Amino acid sequence: MQDVTDRRTAEDKIRHLANFDSLTGLPNRRQLLWRTERALEHARRQGHLCSLLLIDLDRFKVINDTLGHAAGDELLAEVAKRLRLCVRHSEQVTEVAAETGSNRAHRTLEAVGRLGGDEFVALLPEVASEQDAEHVASRILESMKAPIYVAGQECIVTASVGVALFPRDGLNMLDLMRNADVAMYSAKASGRNATAVYAPSLATSGRERLAIETALYKALERQELVLHYQPKVDVQQGCVVGAEALMRWKRAGRLVPPGDFIPLAEEIGLILPMSKWALGEAARQLRAWRDGFGFSHSIAVNLPSRLFERADLVDHIRLSALACGVPLDSIQLEITETGLMKGQQGVFPALHRLNDIGVRISIDDFGTGYSSLSYLTTLPISELKIDGSFVRDLGRTPQSEAVATAIIALARSLGLGVVAEGVETERQAQVLHSLGCHVMQGYLFSRPLPAEDFERWMLRARIQPSAPWILMAEEPL
Ligand code: C2E
Ligand code: CA
Ligand code: CA
Repeated sequence: MQDVTDRRTAEDKIRHLANFDSLTGLPNRRQLLWRTERALEHARRQGHLCSLLLIDLDRFKVINDTLGHAAGDELLAEVAKRLRLCVRHSEQVTEVAAETGSNRAHRTLEAVGRLGGDEFVALLPEVASEQDAEHVASRILESMKAPIYVAGQECIVTASVGVALFPRDGLNMLDLMRNADVAMYSAKASGRNATAVYAPSLATSGRERLAIETALYKALERQELVLHYQPKVDVQQGCVVGAEALMRWKRAGRLVPPGDFIPLAEEIGLILPMSKWALGEAARQLRAWRDGFGFSHSIAVNLPSRLFERADLVDHIRLSALACGVPLDSIQLEITETGLMKGQQGVFPALHRLNDIGVRISIDDFGTGYSSLSYLTTLPISELKIDGSFVRDLGRTPQSEAVATAIIALARSLGLGVVAEGVETERQAQVLHSLGCHVMQGYLFSRPLPAEDFERWMLRARIQPSAPWILMAEEPL
């Protein structure tokens, strides 16, 4: 008797170990596979829908790395407990369900399981519609809302959920899992803490974006970011008056333009460390050029409005300039007109503090922001940059000339400098010159160049007073 009981206990134990995850007590991958196969058999026979939800915690790695693995495990156990309450989770599958006999018994297959790491799966053996599955997914996101306490820390955990439906999105477990995974990545890409239902069109975008995102995280530490510099030319004086720093990303032998990664960096918060890096790098370059060939102008750095809302911006700039021994008025900041209007409350005081320490501020892409202009009189701004879109159409559409004229007049009446960007042709330069805008940037003079090419360009460039827009770069660069 005793022997038999012992054997049975041992068997139960083995079966449990083989089928359930030891950390969370949830069904493991093997058990999920088994249940899913049964559920799919049922669905096939009875002609109903079945759904798989892939649940992945957002940024779990950060928690694990900062609080330690023990805390990570504790957190996973709590998440598991909550997930379990979101479905009709049954630990024991009845024999009937396993035999696929009764037409309701398959519901006992319903469960949440753990695939490994911070990945979980919910199996819904029967759903009436896609909305049913989405409903469970949103219940899951909702269940994460209350903070989790681990290692004396309050953690806010969010998850991204990908939904796949049988038979539409796959006929077997493998295909359903793959497509739930695609949907899950697209939920992550759309900003996380979200649900996405699989659609064939998602197949490329999500993964690709996540790959870029991951690479961008590493770009800073791997020193893959570089600044290129474009001269600002005063065509009346016939000289260079400054440079604008424009960021590039050296990724796998390719130079990625900022339009392809700055918006993403803004979304995921990387723009802050990246901008701080740019400020430090520009200060370092200023030092090198001042020593190298007596460069005495300023470098303008583009900053997102969010950075102006950071209390430590002023200190960071002061320290960067101090560390390199460059004057604060040799650092100029560009904020877009739209950014300025978006962040009014936090941004305006910062502008005053920056102005107080001598840093000059330009409003970038001016004319595109549809902003009220009254604030201009009250803000410590030194320059307006006419957006390239108006410059491009100069001489082609009367509106663009009207806009340029208005901006130039506005700048003059406020005692501000005015710069035209994106000047590509002599014709554009002539029109701007005749309208009273003398400082310009654009391919007509030079493309943005790597620091060493910029230095060579500076040494070679001769600006002719008779035709000041023609820069004599004697040899091609
Ligand atoms: P932006 O500040 O308005 O910069 C001007 C853009 O016009 C640059 O594009 C420049 O290369 C380009 N450009 C200059 N001259 C000409 C021209 O004659 N013709 C044409 N068609 N284009 C010209 P880029 O370097 O691709 O930068 C695009 C935008 O990315 C910038 O627009 C700026 O908003 C943003 N950006 C660049 N670097 C940074 C950075 O370090 N931080 C932040 N936050 N944003 C940056
Ligand atoms: Ca700019
Ligand atoms: Ca601009």
